[in-house]
Amino acid sequence: MIKYEYTANFHQHTVYSDGTGTHSEVIRAGREAGLQVMVFTDHNIFVPDKEGWHGDLLALMGIEVNDTQQHPEHSHFLALGVDRDLNEYAADPQALINKVNQLGGAGFIAHPFEHAAPRFGEGEIPWKHWDVQGYTGLEIWNYMSEFKSFLTGKPRAAYAAFFPDRFITAPFPETLAKWDELTRAGRKIVAIGGADAHAQTYSMGPITRKIFPYRYLFSAVRTHLLLDEPLSRDVPTAKKQVLDTLRAGHCFVAYDLIGDTTGFSFTAQNADDQMIFSDAATAVAIQGDEITLGKLNMLTLSITVPARAEIRLLRDGEIVATERGQSLQFVVSKPGVYRVECYKVHKTKWRGWIFSNPIYVRAAA
Ligand SMILES: [Zn+2]
Ligand SMILES: [Zn+2]
Repeated sequence: MIKYEYTANFHQHTVYSDGTGTHSEVIRAGREAGLQVMVFTDHNIFVPDKEGWHGDLLALMGIEVNDTQQHPEHSHFLALGVDRDLNEYAADPQALINKVNQLGGAGFIAHPFEHAAPRFGEGEIPWKHWDVQGYTGLEIWNYMSEFKSFLTGKPRAAYAAFFPDRFITAPFPETLAKWDELTRAGRKIVAIGGADAHAQTYSMGPITRKIFPYRYLFSAVRTHLLLDEPLSRDVPTAKKQVLDTLRAGHCFVAYDLIGDTTGFSFTAQNADDQMIFSDAATAVAIQGDEITLGKLNMLTLSITVPARAEIRLLRDGEIVATERGQSLQFVVSKPGVYRVECYKVHKTKWRGWIFSNPIYVRAAA
């Protein structure tokens, strides 16, 4: 069973692309924010010799790859855990995905849906190649993308820049709908959440504001990794553990700024496990796992949350149970893709707090 939980960020930029911090500044900000794993993802450049442990923070390398011949440069892909430039594959997303897999990395579609902020010279840069196969998952919540969607006029933008947590609410509904559509079709698609940290400065008339400091973003939307062993102090071993955990979907997306999500749990227990069947199906599943309904055609989903919240259980994208409290148990006898969303009131509004990865409940063989 899961004994170790790590807070992680898989999307961040440095001075090597369009960020404003050096690697060591970004690492310091991550440590101050309590991050335990981070992956650098500068645009279209692999920066060597930056992986290692810094106190309790493991820094790893990745790249955000996109085709620079496109205007605007849409379809960004996070190639995590790779060890070289992948620019020769930028124009061919399927070849890029295949190469990331071949290198033992994990690949995520970054900010799948995006909205333009034309007043601020920001074009729309969504993903446009939905026919691709073999990628690990989707970045379902990108803090900066959501923020950008509020930049619809100057007064509103200035207000949002100073009070971002009054605006940030949840992943885009179209992203969640796309994710459900893909998993309903039988694919395992892992969700992560990312800061997309740049710490860029935006100017709005007389107001200039750094949007947002790294430390702030690293405390906001994060991904929690669930492991049954602690991360090794040996960097190549720890890197493999992180990538294996991501590919397995043993993780959830959390908006920790409005409340610490550590300890959130979503599991499935097959009823056969409580009976004596010599050939019992897989007994217990966690987020990212597949489990079959078994001989009794029944299993129990258990959710526990570290603080009171509105817990929603979804099957194939439709809500099947809601509970306000700290736990929810639900017996299911229908196959489907089950996932959890938790909401919490922050600054007078319900906001997304936890988005689990799915448990894939398959029909009995
Ligand atoms: Zn991007
Ligand atoms: Zn980015």
